[in-house]
Amino acid sequence: MRKITIAIDGFSSCGKSTMAKDLARRVGYVYVDTGAMYRAVTLYCLEHKLIADGKVDVDALRQQMDQIHISFRLNVQTGCPDTYLNGTRVEDRIRGMEVSAQVSTVAALDFVREAMVRQQQLMGAEKGVVMDGRDIGTVVFPDAELKIFVTASAEVRAQRRYDELRAKGEEASFEDILQNVQHRDYLDQHREVSPLVQAVDAVVLDNSNMSIAEQNEWLMNQLMQAARE
Ligand code: C5P
Repeated sequence: MRKITIAIDGFSSCGKSTMAKDLARRVGYVYVDTGAMYRAVTLYCLEHKLIADGKVDVDALRQQMDQIHISFRLNVQTGCPDTYLNGTRVEDRIRGMEVSAQVSTVAALDFVREAMVRQQQLMGAEKGVVMDGRDIGTVVFPDAELKIFVTASAEVRAQRRYDELRAKGEEASFEDILQNVQHRDYLDQHREVSPLVQAVDAVVLDNSNMSIAEQNEWLMNQLMQAARE
């Protein structure tokens, strides 16, 4: 079967990363979590005091962009790539509420997107890649052979995020998470640069009431069909 590019876009906390990671592992593709890249830039801003009261010091961030190096390294224990910011593993810190609360603001900046998109295109240049995000099928790889747009109700998504944080032993309020999910949906859909939109040639996956096994089977069928065409 020929190697293809798989773009998985959709709303926050739809389980995109989990499904993309599993799919990549099963078919031997490289997995790239582009949300982790925007989260790492946001963590950098927080650590360097470039965000105050929800406002980004845009000029300072623009000047420091070339000092922000994001990479992925395979974690042999989990079998999945971990995110590194300037050589330090930040996989857990980028998933916390502090980063989640600011990431959509940082991700709306045009020069941040340009830098990330450039890196993502290099990471996927050889095909055989599963990339998940918001603009993969529309901006990063408009020619991807398989584009999937994932959606689920905001309540289902908030519950999943809540369960995930609690499982890690983090304090979390369902109401706060639901608000964060809805707020990020709004910002992602209404920003000027690369807003979250479904690519015209994307296949929609609403996984509100789907089991992981059903979803996996659905994905494999889509992949087989796209790789054969
Ligand atoms: O996928 P995840 O929820 O971790 O992404 C975090 C945030 O990064 C999203 O809410 C969105 O604002 C931004 N993002 C983006 N474009 C992408 C991936 C993520 O704007 N390709």
